[in-house]
Amino acid sequence: MFSFFKSKKESKTEGDNCCTPQPKGKVECPSCKQKAKGVLAKTFEALVSDESKSKLSCFDGFYYCKTPSCKTVYFRDTQILTQSDMNVVVGLKEGASPATVLNQQRY
Ligand SMILES: [Zn+2]
Repeated sequence: MFSFFKSKKESKTEGDNCCTPQPKGKVECPSCKQKAKGVLAKTFEALVSDESKSKLSCFDGFYYCKTPSCKTVYFRDTQILTQSDMNVVVGLKEGASPATVLNQQRY
């Protein structure tokens, strides 16, 4: 399985600025440039696969992209998580199966 994780700048600041909330304000998805909204760590943690979570030191500060045609589901800085990183199929995204779409994800 391929990964979109990039950690080129994390080596020297690891444990320093992690878990610091992202600056408030407008945040754009790095893939589709649409506005994204922040998600709670517990929400993020419930949806992301264990394999992906094992690569993360914390789950705070992620944003959710709700653009159906965008492959990015969650992102934080240069870290991008796609559908393949999820435990469940996230609603709204292309390829989402109606049988597994979470009702609360619909708008
Ligand atoms: Zn997007």
